[in-house]
Amino acid sequence: MKTRLTVDEYATGILAGDRVVLGKAISLIESSLLSDQQQASELIEKIIDKTGQSIRIGITGVPGVGKSTFIETLGKNITDSGKKIAVLTIDPSSQLTQGSILGDKTRMDDLSKSPLAFIRPTAAGTILGGVSNKTREAILLCEAAGYEVIIVETVGVGQSEVAVKSMVDFFLLLMLAGAGDELQGIKKGIMEMADAVVITKADGDNVKHATEAQAEYQHALHLISSSASGWKPKVLSCSSITKKGIAEIWEMIMKYKEHVTSSGFFAENRAHQNIAWFQEYFHYLLKSDLLRFDSFQKEKTDLEKKVTDKKMSIQRAGNQLLAFYHNTIKNF
Ligand code: GDP
Repeated sequence: MKTRLTVDEYATGILAGDRVVLGKAISLIESSLLSDQQQASELIEKIIDKTGQSIRIGITGVPGVGKSTFIETLGKNITDSGKKIAVLTIDPSSQLTQGSILGDKTRMDDLSKSPLAFIRPTAAGTILGGVSNKTREAILLCEAAGYEVIIVETVGVGQSEVAVKSMVDFFLLLMLAGAGDELQGIKKGIMEMADAVVITKADGDNVKHATEAQAEYQHALHLISSSASGWKPKVLSCSSITKKGIAEIWEMIMKYKEHVTSSGFFAENRAHQNIAWFQEYFHYLLKSDLLRFDSFQKEKTDLEKKVTDKKMSIQRAGNQLLAFYHNTIKNF
């Protein structure tokens, strides 16, 4: 098949559930070429009516917590029931360190063999406006291709969680039993975003620790006021090896969906996320636009110096820079 397709060919292939075309379409939206971006946005408009029907699940946790093993086991559960699942992984580390926390090892090997599964790492880039924008578009393409469950996986290292939370319906945090206080401290903000915490590797000698950790986190979550959805975050444990607890986790997610669908929160949250996406994207465009003007960059550097040297207040410098920008685009 040729690499470049027309927008209609992409759309037809995606709507027919063709995984090869879906993969190519995701590469198209990830491309930074202007002509590709124009095609991508036409493609999104063509398929937009066929999107939205999935449950979008965000999964995070530190490296080694068992994310890929968990997704593989949960994913097989889902495909066994005849449902289609797409897994999009975001690896924020590859941009920072040129290396990858998620690793080059073959991940979710078994699941990837299922004709009902589609697994795709998201190219690294900037989280703000970059990856999150492209991951959101990839979600839409997967939905149009008929995927009923979309998993967005990220490594628990901070900023990417906030981005993922803003594009999913259900946010799941995986945790290890017996991880130190320090780690739990780091995780506090992320715990507050979670709809559920799952203690992984509850098998063999670790069962007792996992049960204790489950009680501990359940207590910690009680102290967090309930979220806008009216759903009380749950704590469960599971083993991706023995599969114990996996079916219960899926049941819980389905219960959540029922709960928020009947309360109206599901649709409200999606609408809210869309507006936030639009605003975020617009700010991203504005920021990129500013970079086009060398004179603007120079003015900004001069003002930064004045602020540092206490020659000018932040407010005056900010207003002056805004006026400079307005003048620059007026004369453009
Ligand atoms: P990730 O870095 O979070 O994706 O973690 P992986 O899924 O790659 O798992 C890290 C390690 O933990 C691997 O050696 C897995 O075999 C192991 N592991 C994952 N899940 C389980 C589990 O449920 N029980 C046990 N005993 N080991 C597990």
